Amino acid sequence: MGFKITFNKNLSYRKKLCPNCLNELKLESPLAGLIVPESYFCDKCGYSGSVALEVNQS
Ligand SMILES: [Zn+2]
Repeated sequence: MGFKITFNKNLSYRKKLCPNCLNELKLESPLAGLIVPESYFCDKCGYSGSVALEVNQS
């Protein structure tokens, strides 16, 4: 076959952590980042907003 499919394994998912309690944040909307600014919420402390700590998973 003249083609190959390559999955980029270096495409790292960046964890977003709550700036308040360092819990892992969840996206507030599945459309976040596409048509609206990214927004996150923390189900631990109730934080909600666009500020998130980014962590590179290794
Ligand atoms: Zn939190």
